[in-house]
Amino acid sequence: MKLLKRHESGFYYYVNSEKCNDNEKPRRIIFLDRDGVINVDSEEFIKTWSEYMFCPGSLEAIRMLTRYHFIPVIISNQSGINRNILTLENLDEITVNMIAEIEKAGGFVGAVCYCPHEPEEACGCRKPAIKMLNFSLSRIKATSENIYFVGDRQTDVQTAINFGATPILIDGSMEEEEIRPLETEIPGHTCPSLLTAVKKIILAP
Ligand SMILES: [Mg+2]
Ligand SMILES: [Zn+2]
Repeated sequence: MKLLKRHESGFYYYVNSEKCNDNEKPRRIIFLDRDGVINVDSEEFIKTWSEYMFCPGSLEAIRMLTRYHFIPVIISNQSGINRNILTLENLDEITVNMIAEIEKAGGFVGAVCYCPHEPEEACGCRKPAIKMLNFSLSRIKATSENIYFVGDRQTDVQTAINFGATPILIDGSMEEEEIRPLETEIPGHTCPSLLTAVKKIILAP
């Protein structure tokens, strides 16, 4: 592996320490799920870089986040690793290329965390657990207030709730630019894409 490191509790991570801990004023973290938010998801897992396709507008969304002083942190369950469907080498290569494309488009990634475990393994890192979120927060100079978590599954909404973040659920079947309140007891939104979500977040007070 070129980029990813293994944490002692079993998840894989990359932290862009240089960019996350420069001397500027602390910025805001925003947690992003990967599959179904940044790139098109697949029931057969994303196994190689050639299968990886950015969602429309997601590169622009991450560029906007960067411009507005957010630190995007990707939190992803990748059980394909322990199911032996996806190799660590390929996951590493996908991550290297994904970050390169994001940077080419004017954005950056503060950190990436992947849980490789299957649900039955009952690890402490698989979403909706918040270990990978807490780890990222501990390695990045950022304010811990007013954090959003953008994901496309109920597990992501639950992760946000467990962490105390504001959930944003992506539902690709919605009209572009449409925003609905999330049907949970805590405040949150449902949006058709990361780009619409980011516009909403940036315009939010
Ligand atoms: Mg997802
Ligand atoms: Zn795990």
